Amino acid sequence: MNAPYELRDDGVAVIRMENPPVNSLALKLRKALFKALCAAQDDSRVLALVVTGSGEGFSAGGDLVEFESNKTFAAPELSIMLIGCIETSSKPIVAAMHGFALGGGLELALACHGRVADPACKVGLPETTLGLLPGAGGTQRLPRAIGLEPATNLIINGTVLAASALAESSLFDALSETTVERACQLALELVARGAPWPLLRHQPVHHSHPEGFLAFARQQAKSRRYSNSAIPLALDALRLSVGVDFDSAVAQEQALFRRQLVDPVSMGIRHAFLAERLAPKSDVDLNGGTQPIDEVIVIGAGFMGKGIASCFVRAGYRVKLYDSVQDTARRAVGDLVVQLGCSAAQLTAIDNYASMATADLVVEAAAERLDVKQSIFAELGRHCKNEAILASNTSSLDLDQIALASGRPQRVLGLHFFGPAQVMRLLEVVRGAETDPGVLATALVVAKQLRKVAVIARVCRGFIGNRLFDRYLLQALALVNEGVSPYRIDQVLERWGMRMGPFKVMDLVGIDLLHGAWQGVYRPLDIQLLGQLCRAERTGLRGGRGWYCYDRGSKAQLDPGVAQVITVADPACQVGDAMIAERCLLALVNEGARVLEEGIAQRASDIDVVFVLGYGFPADRGGPMYWASTQGLARIERTLRQWAVDSENDFWRPSALLSDLARDFKDFSHFPNQH
Ligand code: NAD
Repeated sequence: MNAPYELRDDGVAVIRMENPPVNSLALKLRKALFKALCAAQDDSRVLALVVTGSGEGFSAGGDLVEFESNKTFAAPELSIMLIGCIETSSKPIVAAMHGFALGGGLELALACHGRVADPACKVGLPETTLGLLPGAGGTQRLPRAIGLEPATNLIINGTVLAASALAESSLFDALSETTVERACQLALELVARGAPWPLLRHQPVHHSHPEGFLAFARQQAKSRRYSNSAIPLALDALRLSVGVDFDSAVAQEQALFRRQLVDPVSMGIRHAFLAERLAPKSDVDLNGGTQPIDEVIVIGAGFMGKGIASCFVRAGYRVKLYDSVQDTARRAVGDLVVQLGCSAAQLTAIDNYASMATADLVVEAAAERLDVKQSIFAELGRHCKNEAILASNTSSLDLDQIALASGRPQRVLGLHFFGPAQVMRLLEVVRGAETDPGVLATALVVAKQLRKVAVIARVCRGFIGNRLFDRYLLQALALVNEGVSPYRIDQVLERWGMRMGPFKVMDLVGIDLLHGAWQGVYRPLDIQLLGQLCRAERTGLRGGRGWYCYDRGSKAQLDPGVAQVITVADPACQVGDAMIAERCLLALVNEGARVLEEGIAQRASDIDVVFVLGYGFPADRGGPMYWASTQGLARIERTLRQWAVDSENDFWRPSALLSDLARDFKDFSHFPNQH
């Protein structure tokens, strides 16, 4: 913020908050705002003030990075100093909101003497989605503005609404698309009416039976699958809005907020949130070398190809779909045109490589076989224009070998979508040995356009996600070999927080596909159970039977028939639940450390993003590498070393990086490039 405010001819000082991209209320913005508010108070030419945002919105609230340090409470902090300065102003202050007014941003506006919002402005106090609660009076002022019940629902569900949805409440004095103009008008109306200026703190909260309502809300929150410790605290704070002295209620709310800041669940969720925003950042120059992408070809119109085509269509690209099996592409296009309601010009089927000559980007999602992919890339090398970017969706093949077949490996990279591609937000962007930085940079721009979270990986078998996940699944199989029931393993890991146990995942992927992909890669002993199931025609969900049976749709049912094929659960087996979870999770962590050590992943938090978004790892545990750091790497390293000795299995040998960090009492956040 350069000038503290813009003084209009009508005597209204307009203060624009400026801290791109979302005007988070970081210390530097708070200082600038405080300075502007004070200066306007002292300026005799100023009759009234309007506080507004710049760029895309008003303010998205507190700065999450500052939450990790004490900077959040450095002066001028939001709750007492800034808001106090607004509430005690001798001149009326009106908030003019556009784009978004969330969390602390909305709390700031709630303290003003008047509020004007664009009807489309997104408003809410979504702190509970981060395991926090509003900490600057939100639980006290919002019920006064919209009523206790709507405020409670909004806060505990973390709902974000368009301002127009709250038009009937007294949250806004006016809705207008010309927010600043209307806010200036309102400010002058307030001046004309004279002091005292209206404040939400002076309004009572009316409710006939607040105890009963909040007890009901508490009960409902308890029935959710995952506990969120912020919700009971938010309800406690909301209770204070009825009948408790306002300043004391705000002080108690802030104390609860501070308590939640160090809550492990909230810290895990906040880590996952920040990691996601950090992931696409790399040392590649995004501005210099990107190229425009308009026409996209998708090769392979199967499960993935169809989903990928749908992502590109929805993002506004022109898409052509090709499949080697006659009519497959045409049928897929017919389905998608109906589903997406797009025009035939935006999505067409093609049946030859010559039609790919004008494509800017090709994404191959054909069969997972090196020879198939190499022959496709050889055709692409012959038919595509030189500037075209050629991408493969391979899950585990050697991207560099595919790239070489094209004759132009610098134009090739991996775009590893997760299935179903139109639903999953994760995209592994795989940088080949020769991938041009401009190609990578363009892919990152495309990923953003597709609203995917891009994580950059280097080439290795399975890249980041599947390479680690293989280890986790292999460990689950090893436990069954030792006599632990697969159903118990699933139960333990699901209780721990994984969205789906490893055996349900194997059924979903296809036991035959997994067995095929792992043959020749892992030791026969490690994957023999999969072979036995395949021979008994238990191939997983698609075949109706695998580790589970699926007689009634896609819901997994325990299947006693598995015991006729393999030994399921040895009663003499002594492995406890904690050990089951620890073995599967440490298999992930150790491989994650190797992936970091080899430079396959840029940073530990990228691995966390891959697992939270792509593999159902619980976000409230932050991701496998963050979780490991919270457990202490020294203990983990000792455990791994012990297991390696006991089992005489190299599987458990700790990665060198893990040993180094453990020796130096460090954790994965100390690895280069971490936020
Ligand atoms: P799929 O069997 O559903 O579809 C593959 C399609 O490719 C079929 O329609 C087939 O006719 C077509 N095809 C085969 N050879 C071809 C060729 N030479 N030229 C053009 N088309 C050809 O398979 P899928 O699950 O969609 O997987 C496709 C790719 O995506 C594989 O590389 C796979 O590893 C990868 N992948 C799959 C998933 C998943 O969850 N299924 C996730 C990520 C990546």
